[in-house]
Amino acid sequence: ASTTLHGTYSSYEITPAVTNRPGQCDDLNITIVGAGIGGFSAAIFLRRQGHNVTLVEQSRFANEVGAAVHLAPNANGLLLRMGLKAEDIGAVPCNLISTSRPNLELVFKAEVWKQSHRWQHSWLLGHRVDLHSELKRLATMEEGKGPPVILRTSSKVASVSTDGAVTLTSGEQIRADVVVGADGVHSKTRYALPGSQDIKPFGSGKSAFRFTMPRARALAEPVTKPLVEADGHLNMYMGKDRRVVIYPTRDNDVLNFVCIHSTSSSEVKAGAPESSDWQNTGHMDKLLEIYQDFDPAIVKLLSMADPDTLKVWELLDMEQLPTWTNGRLACIGDAAHPFTPHQGQGAAQAIEDAASLACVLPLGTALEEIPERLKLYEKCRYERASRIQEYSRIIGKDFGEGPPLDASQYTNENFGHDEWHYT
Ligand code: FAD
Repeated sequence: ASTTLHGTYSSYEITPAVTNRPGQCDDLNITIVGAGIGGFSAAIFLRRQGHNVTLVEQSRFANEVGAAVHLAPNANGLLLRMGLKAEDIGAVPCNLISTSRPNLELVFKAEVWKQSHRWQHSWLLGHRVDLHSELKRLATMEEGKGPPVILRTSSKVASVSTDGAVTLTSGEQIRADVVVGADGVHSKTRYALPGSQDIKPFGSGKSAFRFTMPRARALAEPVTKPLVEADGHLNMYMGKDRRVVIYPTRDNDVLNFVCIHSTSSSEVKAGAPESSDWQNTGHMDKLLEIYQDFDPAIVKLLSMADPDTLKVWELLDMEQLPTWTNGRLACIGDAAHPFTPHQGQGAAQAIEDAASLACVLPLGTALEEIPERLKLYEKCRYERASRIQEYSRIIGKDFGEGPPLDASQYTNENFGHDEWHYT
C-alpha cells in the first residue's frame, strides 16, 4: 500500500477479496464495542460495505450528554460521505479564531472563512449530542445502504478475545468475525492488545470546566455582548496557566465554554475514576475563583452559567500503544489513542479511523485475511493519529507569561498548523 501522512485512505490499494475459498464469507458479522462517535461512524461505514453490524453500548442513551465538538474539514468530508451534512444539524461555520490575553488584548486572529478555499470541506462547530443522535439515526435506519445496525444498549462488555468473542458483564457471549473496540478512553477492549496491559490513561495535569449557555443571554448584557456578537467566532483568552475558550454552536444560538486550568486548582481528583467522568459536577465558586483575574466581561460571562449544568472534566492522556490490532480485534478512536482536546481533533480522528477500517474490509473479505487487513488499517492510521495527538499536547502547554505576542510564533511546530484538515 502506498502511504501518505495526509490520510488519503481512498488511495490505498487493497487486495481484492478472493471468493469461494474455504472460510470465505460474503458479509462479515462485526461486533463494535461502544456506540460513541467512533463506534457509530464505524458502524455506518461497515454497514455500507454490506456487513452485519452489532453495536454493543453500556449506557441506556437515556440522557445524551456532551457539549460542543469541533468538526474540522477532515471530519466533515467523511460525514458527508456518510450522508450527514453537519450544517443541517445546526453546526456553525467557524469564521474567525482569535487569541487574546485575559485582559482582552488581541494577540492573533485567523479569518478562517478567508482560508476556506484551502480545504475541501467546511470547518464547523457542532454539538456532540446532535452529531451523536444523527449518527445513531443513520446507523439504524431501515432504508440506508446495507443492513441496519443492531444497537444493543445497557450492555456492558467485560472482555473481548482476539478470535471474535465478546463477553458481556451479564455473562452472555457474542461471536463475531471481527471485533472493533470503540469503547473510549477507559477502554476494556484495548487490554486484549499485546503490550497494552501496563498502559493506562493518566491525568494530563489539566481539567476543564464545560458548560453551554443561550447566546441571547450573553447578548442581552452590554458588558458581555461585544465578546459574543460575531457569528462563528471562536475566542480563546489565554492566561499564564489557564484559558477560556468560547464558541457558538447550534445555529449560533448556543455558546460553548471550555475553561482549562490545572487540575490541582479545581476539585477534580487527579487520575479520574473510570466511571462517568463526563458527568462530574463543577462548582461555580471554584470556576470564578480560578478566573477572577480575567477581564470583568469574561468573569461576568462565566458567572452567568447555569450552575446545574456546570461540569468539570479531567483531561486525560496516555502513552502510545505499541499496536491497535490483534488477530480479529481492532481498536479505534479514544480506545486506541485518547486525545487531549486542545486541537479539537478527538472526534475527527475517531471518524477517520472508522472510515479507514471499513476501507480495508470490503464485502467478500475472507476470514483468514482479517488479521492482515486490520494491520493495514493500523498502518494507514497510526502515524497520522499519533502525530496529531502530539500536536494537541503541544498546543495545550502553558504559555508561561501568556501567549506569544508575535503572530509569527504561531508556527506549524507550535500549533500543528492545519495539515490535518485534509482528507
Ligand atoms: P467516546 O465518544 O468516548 O465513546 C465511547 C463509547 O463506548 C461510549 O458511548 C461509552 O459509553 C462506551 N463504552 C465504554 N466502555 C464500554 C463497555 N465496557 N461496554 C460497552 N460500551 C462501552 N468530546 C468533546 O469534544 N466534547 C464533548 O462535549 C464530549 N462529550 C462527551 C460525552 C460523553 C458521554 C462521552 C462518552 C464522550 C464525550 N466526548 C466529548 C469525547 C469524544 O466523544 C471522544 O473523545 C471522541 O469523539 C472519540 O470518540 P470515541 O468513539 O473513541 O469515544
